[in-house]
Amino acid sequence: MAATAETLAFQAETKELLRLMIHSLYTRKDIFLRELISNASDALDRLRFESLTNQDLLEGNDRFEIRLDTDRAARTLTISDSGIGMSREEIIAHIGTIAKSGTAELRDKLQEAGSTGDISELIGQFGVGFYSSFMVADRVKLVTRRAGQSAAYQWESDGSGTYEISEVEKPDRGTSITLYLKAPDTDTGIEDYTDYWRLSSIVRLHSDFINYPIIAKREREQSPTTAGEDKSAKEIVVEDSTLNSMKPIWKRSPADIKQEDYNEFYKHVSHDWTEPLKTIHFKAEGTFEYDALLYIPAKAPYDLFYVGYEPGLRLYAKRVMIMEKCEDLLPHYLRFIRGIVDAADLPLNISRQRLQQDHHITLIRKRVTRKILDTLQEMFDKDYEKYLTVWGEFGRSIKEGISADYENKDKILPLLLYQSSNDADKLTTLKDYVGRMKPSQEQIFYLTGESRGVVENSPHLEAIRDKGWEVLYMVDPVDELVLQHLNEFEGKRLKSAGKGKIETGEDEQKELKEKQEEFKPLLEFLQKRLDENVKQVRLTTRLTTSPACLVVEDHDYSPMLERVLQKGKGGGPKQRRVLELNPNHQLVTRMRERQAGNAEDPLLANAAEVVFGLAVLAEGSELPDPVRFNKAATEVLGQIV
Ligand code: ADP
Ligand code: MG
Repeated sequence: MAATAETLAFQAETKELLRLMIHSLYTRKDIFLRELISNASDALDRLRFESLTNQDLLEGNDRFEIRLDTDRAARTLTISDSGIGMSREEIIAHIGTIAKSGTAELRDKLQEAGSTGDISELIGQFGVGFYSSFMVADRVKLVTRRAGQSAAYQWESDGSGTYEISEVEKPDRGTSITLYLKAPDTDTGIEDYTDYWRLSSIVRLHSDFINYPIIAKREREQSPTTAGEDKSAKEIVVEDSTLNSMKPIWKRSPADIKQEDYNEFYKHVSHDWTEPLKTIHFKAEGTFEYDALLYIPAKAPYDLFYVGYEPGLRLYAKRVMIMEKCEDLLPHYLRFIRGIVDAADLPLNISRQRLQQDHHITLIRKRVTRKILDTLQEMFDKDYEKYLTVWGEFGRSIKEGISADYENKDKILPLLLYQSSNDADKLTTLKDYVGRMKPSQEQIFYLTGESRGVVENSPHLEAIRDKGWEVLYMVDPVDELVLQHLNEFEGKRLKSAGKGKIETGEDEQKELKEKQEEFKPLLEFLQKRLDENVKQVRLTTRLTTSPACLVVEDHDYSPMLERVLQKGKGGGPKQRRVLELNPNHQLVTRMRERQAGNAEDPLLANAAEVVFGLAVLAEGSELPDPVRFNKAATEVLGQIV
């Protein structure tokens, strides 16, 4: 056995987190116990699952339990489990390191927590519950042996920057965590965690549903049992007492469950420290039975749209966890949902692959999906404020459902909310938009772009706005994707204000046709000058105050999408635009006149550059050749001096 301990340093972010923990003003210090019990329960779940295919891991001991042992004199509390344990590598990877260290998000959150003193969000999002033990302990010692392995290890730290790791003996598999407790202090909310009743009440409050017995020693006075002794002299017996009811919460009737109980279970499965926004609990009966307990969290995890995000619900078969994150139980666009499914008739040792193809899993996914969408709709109808929170956090992923879940498209459509020209603050549904459509209006207009500011001021909306027609401002990158699967709503076509031709009205169209001949030479001239970037020059009724704008055809990528694609690997396509001119604008009529007077007028070439450049800027794109634009603009402006 290696007698020497090795001292290792925490990474910078872990160190910072521990510093915050130790000095935390977080009032509910007793949640450290919930976190350690939650980890113990996870470790037992893992062992139970792994032992299904490898009996040897049990080492002939099939007791699955969590123990709380105290030493009042030494002021220690030890939380032990007979779970899977950790190897040396696992200790270093899971206890000495934060998995998501090195991310900008973690750094941001650490900074935020440092200034506000609120660590709860930080912990929830980064899965660092273990460190909460440093809120109540000056020193923490962890001894662990992985099931099936012979070497055991001890990890010890005072949280100040380094930890020591050494090899030790440990006959029983699993993990024991000893906390060297800080003195009770009412100011900082630290209580006496060596007290049986204190522990018992914390467990009942936060960890009652844990599937394994949480056992503590209880002292009880009793009269002597041996005959002949003085009956009044009490003696103290110490006995094991199980603190939790162990009833899986999802097996209980919803009528008997308090929201607090639901919330505590949420914190256990999600590792989140904030309360969930909504709980969905149901039982499916019939030939294939299962219970589902699902949650809509209050906040989106920072990595919801990252590649590394791990979606999934916990899957149990007859109360035994068989998978921690089963992706197949949810469609990807609902990946923000947390919770569990407990199926009655799944084999315990089903493989991942078989699970994917399993008919039952498909059925569960369908039902769970419908249930979530119905719940969202109900929330929309009855508690719109709350729905707005959901939309703010998860709207982007819900929208993905339009392209991904054809079957439920009709359930998703009424859930979509958009900014609109109708109201500066309130969002609108497509249905409400249609309800407001003018008799003269045949299409649902929208414009995509980076922000409301850019879209709102776009010249493309001039004539539409003059007509009093409403425009949806689609300013989320995912909107472009959604639009590819959203051509119409309630029989009305969705039409981009920046694409194709806008049919404003018969009179205007007629007038435009009449002007065509008159402007033909100018249009041809501009085409020749701008051919590199412009595929067509035409007159339009789309504009009322601007001289010109750029559009793409109906089937082309919008400028917004083009920019997104170009930022991607290998760049995207570079499309030529259509330049549209407002034949009623003085600038355009003057150009026509000048050209009619002198087709070789050198000012015209520069004016063409400027008109094009301004239109590029108006759509939010970058000038293809700023130097050229600058020169031309200087020439044109030179005319006024
Ligand atoms: P989280 O539980 O969200 O992953 P924690 O900080 O609570 O974050 O725990 C970090 C990791 O340490 C766990 O994911 C697990 O791998 C390991 N761990 C913690 N406690 C135990 C335990 N009692 N037995 C085995 N592994 C544990
Ligand atoms: Mg944990």
